[in-house]
Amino acid sequence: MSRTIAFIGLGIMGLPMAKNLVTAGFTVRGFNRTPAKAAELEKAGGQAAGTIAEAVDGADVIITMVPDSPDVEDVLTGEEGILAHAKSGAYWIDNSTIRPDVAKNLSAQAAQKGLKPLDAPVSGGEAGAINGALSIMVGGDRGDFDAVSDVFDAVGKTIVLVGPAGSGQTVKAANQLIVAGNIELLAEAVVFLEAYGVETDSALQVLGGGLAGSKVLDQKGQKMLDRSFDPGFRLELHHKDMGIVTAAAREAGVSIPLGSAVAQLVASTVQQGNGGLDHSGLFTVVEQLSGKNQS
Ligand code: NAP
Repeated sequence: MSRTIAFIGLGIMGLPMAKNLVTAGFTVRGFNRTPAKAAELEKAGGQAAGTIAEAVDGADVIITMVPDSPDVEDVLTGEEGILAHAKSGAYWIDNSTIRPDVAKNLSAQAAQKGLKPLDAPVSGGEAGAINGALSIMVGGDRGDFDAVSDVFDAVGKTIVLVGPAGSGQTVKAANQLIVAGNIELLAEAVVFLEAYGVETDSALQVLGGGLAGSKVLDQKGQKMLDRSFDPGFRLELHHKDMGIVTAAAREAGVSIPLGSAVAQLVASTVQQGNGGLDHSGLFTVVEQLSGKNQS
């Protein structure tokens, strides 16, 4: 008999991940705060649950994919949340990106209630979610990790246990630092190239073949050239993540000067009303800094 998975949060990432779990043969019961998205899962062969209680009732594995630490806290510990309704022994995989200290704390609460928690944030964007090709950085117990490897395999390609509870979120914070820094420098390079009237398509092509090449350049370069910033990964979520990494670095006594500067630029873009753009929309603020506001 196939295992039943409760999937909570069917947004840009959650819906395609849940669909891939259906394709892999799991019974998937999805809950979304706005019900229309759960109906989309139904069309793909999953089941739509009207409440979290209904979704997690008897489920073997519970996955959460919601925006921020307070959201995961609500969904887990709220009166009608997971802890109130999940069966003892169920695995709880949190794919959301949240604060490492909160992840550690919530894992302890879940374990106390008899659940098997894994913090498992992902990287790879909407395309990675659609293609089942996510990188997944997992914190938790080795035995629990091994027991749900088939679930991870259905949604990801590079899946690594990086340490005990909370470690997955620490690695994800480093991931977001690296990605934001890359986007910022790519945006600066594009504004620079345009100022010199260089053929930017050709420029990005040759840059992509050398040491300056990166997945960020491959996936975000054309979006900047086209001023096409449909999300993808919303800037307001990256703003949340820069808050996570700057706070965690400060807590650890680690200085991240460039990361902090980029965090300010991301914050400024969001404050200007552009938080709904893809994170490549950081470009808009880089343009403004040079008085070249074409976007
Ligand atoms: P999203 O499209 O905004 O989806 C978030 C989902 O969570 C929506 O279904 C939303 O329901 C639900 N939700 C929000 N607050 C909730 C609450 N308090 N209680 C219950 N449900 C709630 O976001 P996303 O892009 O999928 O991102 C989800 C997580 O993955 C975030 O932590 C993000 O940082 C991370 N992530 C995103 C990407 C990416 O490229 N997008 C890549 C890697 C990691 P409604 O439909 O009702 O709003």
